[in-house]
Amino acid sequence: MSAFLEIAQLNKIYHSQRDPLYALKDVSLDIEQGEFVSVVGASGCGKSTLLKCVAGLEPISSGRLALQGDPIVCPPSNMGVVFQRDLLLDWRTILDNVLISAEFHDLSRKDYEERARAVLNLFGLGAFADRFPWELSGGMRQRASICRALLVDPQLLLMDEPFGALDPFTRDELNEELQRTWMDTGKTVLFITHSISEAVYLSDRVVVMSRNPGGVAAVIP
Ligand code: ADP
Ligand code: MG
Repeated sequence: MSAFLEIAQLNKIYHSQRDPLYALKDVSLDIEQGEFVSVVGASGCGKSTLLKCVAGLEPISSGRLALQGDPIVCPPSNMGVVFQRDLLLDWRTILDNVLISAEFHDLSRKDYEERARAVLNLFGLGAFADRFPWELSGGMRQRASICRALLVDPQLLLMDEPFGALDPFTRDELNEELQRTWMDTGKTVLFITHSISEAVYLSDRVVVMSRNPGGVAAVIP
């Protein structure tokens, strides 16, 4: 049987006015359902490119990319993404920012409002549901963006340096909250970070990437 998330001989070349750039070369990695896998590597080694390809946001040049056996050609419906910037919309309340996931999936807002409040509660934001993003701290904003990703209960959670812009105290707190969520829900997580300690603390396996072109240098259980 194939892995939950299958990445095989993946190549990604960016074509621009300059020379073609090999961002990912021959990347292969199987991720099992429920696994927490981190990817670490120096800036520019292709971590975000890998995540965007898996998210179906960037087309691959060659190779195979499949989620539960289905080739990924557009953003899969059972996936949530968290980026380093929280990307909250300043003109929407926190509740409405979280509910945007339901809108993207063409689901009824009414059906999801209760769940949105429950997820916000879980991340300590229950009292802030009706506030605006600019009224929240950086850590709270990033919590809200995690809530947004979790709203429709996706099986796969993709995170690109989600805590990179936070102070170390908040980062530790969010690491614990993420770990708790992962253990409670059994989600599969692909987590990108440049913090080795964060990767070691959170993961079942740590993938170390090499640079120019981006590839897998080592996979450490
Ligand atoms: P990382 O997330 O590890 O810092 P990226 O995946 O963002 O690395 O970038 C990998 C390489 O691909 C870098 O050399 C970067 O300049 C290049 N790159 C990223 N996105 C694009 C793009 N849209 N067009 C052209 N080159 C890109
Ligand atoms: Mg990046």
